Amino acid sequence: MLAIVRSATLCGVRGHPVDVEVHVGSGLPGFAIVGLPDASCREAKDRVRAAIQSSGEDWPQRKITVNLAPSDVKKTGASLDLAIAIGLLSATDKIDPGVLERFGFLGELGLDGTVRPVRGALPMGDVIDAPSLVVSADNAAEVELLGNPVKSVRTLARLVDCLAGVDDWPDTPAGKVVSARSSALDLRDIRGQKMAKLALSISAAGGHHLLMVGPPGAGKTMLAKRLPGLLPPLSQAGALDVTRIHSAAGELRPEQIPIVYPPLRAPHHSASAVSLVGGGAASMRPGELSLAHRGVLFLDELGEFSPSALDGLRQPLEEREVRVTRAHSTARYPADVLLVGSMNPCPCGESGAPGACRCSDTARARYHRRVSGPLLDRFDLRIGVQRPVPSELFGEPEGESSDQAAQRVAEARGRALSRSGCINSALGASELDRVAPLSNGARTILENALGQGRLSARGVGRVRSVSRTIADLQDGGDMVSVEQLCLAMSLRVDPFGFNG
Ligand SMILES: [Zn+2]
Repeated sequence: MLAIVRSATLCGVRGHPVDVEVHVGSGLPGFAIVGLPDASCREAKDRVRAAIQSSGEDWPQRKITVNLAPSDVKKTGASLDLAIAIGLLSATDKIDPGVLERFGFLGELGLDGTVRPVRGALPMGDVIDAPSLVVSADNAAEVELLGNPVKSVRTLARLVDCLAGVDDWPDTPAGKVVSARSSALDLRDIRGQKMAKLALSISAAGGHHLLMVGPPGAGKTMLAKRLPGLLPPLSQAGALDVTRIHSAAGELRPEQIPIVYPPLRAPHHSASAVSLVGGGAASMRPGELSLAHRGVLFLDELGEFSPSALDGLRQPLEEREVRVTRAHSTARYPADVLLVGSMNPCPCGESGAPGACRCSDTARARYHRRVSGPLLDRFDLRIGVQRPVPSELFGEPEGESSDQAAQRVAEARGRALSRSGCINSALGASELDRVAPLSNGARTILENALGQGRLSARGVGRVRSVSRTIADLQDGGDMVSVEQLCLAMSLRVDPFGFNG
């Protein structure tokens, strides 16, 4: 007897449909799985056998062959367990073959017959061509985002009864109403730091990467954590995209389904290159860079990250995508992030205050070299952040709230998108000539800075792009003024130049 069950496997952050073909025939009793299963997928044999027996069904003493088609796609993980068990029960007439027309199946089986949630249920559910999906109850909320009917179960025994019509389907957990953005983190909580707050708005409006350099206690982390609150909420497609990535990484928490606000990821500086960028030998998963897709990647203590980890970020930041190639597959992970870095001005952190620094010149030079050159070049905005003075700490909260700043950011983004179809950080040189023409005075200032070596050719382009964003935040005028250009240049200082 042959049964074919529809399911899927995970390739990167995308699902790939899989037909699970189960054949039960004569011959020596045995159980083989073919069709490029990885180690954990091959172990389905033992899980499925135990789960079926624990569910009160007999194990057929026949020759069982499971083929996972198409055979040229590597099948990873345990998500096919449930489909294999259902196929086996159907091939041995325990389940009416007709039900296989109506459902696709996704789930891992426990030895006691429980149906467990799987990583990547959302992207996998997306590619299964079936009228309805059966998943673990813990996967139901995310799979429901796809808009198709979903049945959720907790045990294989209950599932068999439901499919046979002798029991009712359990209620699928109700989808929750998405709450408003938690504005627990507001810009107004931060005293002083006028320039840094301005830089945050510019960063959010134009998609400009931001580097903050300052001593410990200056508030760099507080500032960075408020950046996602300035970005517009995700579009419906964007929310599905981001939720899909978090699902594929196994990082989707029930209370955050679907993810509708830009995520913030802040990996520790001991993070490996793989955990930052993605990939991995055993099972490929998206890294922090992709988990921050459409949101903010905050690298606190940038100078403490390993050089190889930082090096791995450069290309994906440029291409807004991570590509990982392995023997049987190439995975592409989206990685369109706003990068925020923070650093102390020197290893001891005190070189801002005269005479306070205890570092040797070589230690300082080594520290600065870590973020020199190509990586530093990625930051359009580089600012110094100082500790607030006492009068600021005890004054009244001042300046814009996060909601007010987000409103201005949304307007500025709207201007950029309707003018050139992209945010300003993505503008090329020729487009800048068209959309950010310089006033005569501004042109002279840039020419002088280039002539005196204060700006590189690339730097000129980045400053023009930032000044376009400043104009969009202010008045949306066609021409970049001297004031706007000077502000952009003052937000791109040598981060270690003000060390004294
Ligand atoms: Zn120092």
